[in-house]
Amino acid sequence: MSIAYIYHPDCLEHDMGEEHPEQPARINAIEDRMRMAHIFDFVRHHEAPLAEKKYLTRVHDAKYVDKVLSFAKLPDGEHSYLDPDTVITNKTPKAALRAAGAAVMATDLVLGHKHQHKIAFCNVRPPGHHAERGGAMGFCFFNNIAVAAAHAIHDYGLRRVAIIDFDVHHGNGTEDIFQNEPRVLFCSSFQHPFYPFSGDDVISDHIINVPLPAGTSGDKFREAVLMHWIPALTKFAPEMIFISAGFDAHIEDDMSNFHLRESDYAWVTKELMVVADKFADGRVVSMLEGGYDLSSLARSVTAHLKVLMHMD
Ligand SMILES: [Zn+2]
Repeated sequence: MSIAYIYHPDCLEHDMGEEHPEQPARINAIEDRMRMAHIFDFVRHHEAPLAEKKYLTRVHDAKYVDKVLSFAKLPDGEHSYLDPDTVITNKTPKAALRAAGAAVMATDLVLGHKHQHKIAFCNVRPPGHHAERGGAMGFCFFNNIAVAAAHAIHDYGLRRVAIIDFDVHHGNGTEDIFQNEPRVLFCSSFQHPFYPFSGDDVISDHIINVPLPAGTSGDKFREAVLMHWIPALTKFAPEMIFISAGFDAHIEDDMSNFHLRESDYAWVTKELMVVADKFADGRVVSMLEGGYDLSSLARSVTAHLKVLMHMD
């Protein structure tokens, strides 16, 4: 089954320096691996548009959006820090608008009147799940998955959407944005205690945080998903599923101390597809978040995509 694949070359122009792990090469590594796995020609390719501001100000303060966009005027070769890990250049605003634009497009492709696709994957950067309503954080500028979910609620009238975040870091930004929004069920698993040192307190019954210790294996991760996420999802019965797809919990990714493998990402994707088929007419939008070891990132995304494409 064909899925939508959304990308834009502007996403490669955002460059935080050679030593920075969130690098443009991540996108290319994924595409190379998709070619090797013979799936690159079997997805429907779409170019991400620039997100219109109205989609951003639903989930971010207008003042913050303007601040990010104002850096487009920075002279070439200059950069600034929005937080100690998050570097902005004059190319960043456009890349961030493409990533958020991909989120809008993915939602439109799945929910729009043409019903072009049931499933969309966005191979875009910068990532988004640490970006809070009022600020950039942890390599993230605009919260792409939040933009997508808010679009589904506000423009398509969905009353129940689920965001699943299996990045190794807590999706603090997504939680911040939707903490008072009962139409969103947010499920996040993450290494704890670990950056960004949030998510261990229960703040709402529609925020399902699953902190797990360093050294967590695939088996323990699967146990936690079955124990915490699946019952919550079944009870909530989401009309659409959004995935903050980060792959930095892989055993080969030295950003964290989790021991997940490609088979674990395929497994969790399959579990989510079962939920999507049961409640959400199979509708899934997945967006790239973290994953910094290029080889394991590319292999894991490919495993994720094969399940989304029913090719596993
Ligand atoms: Zn991460």
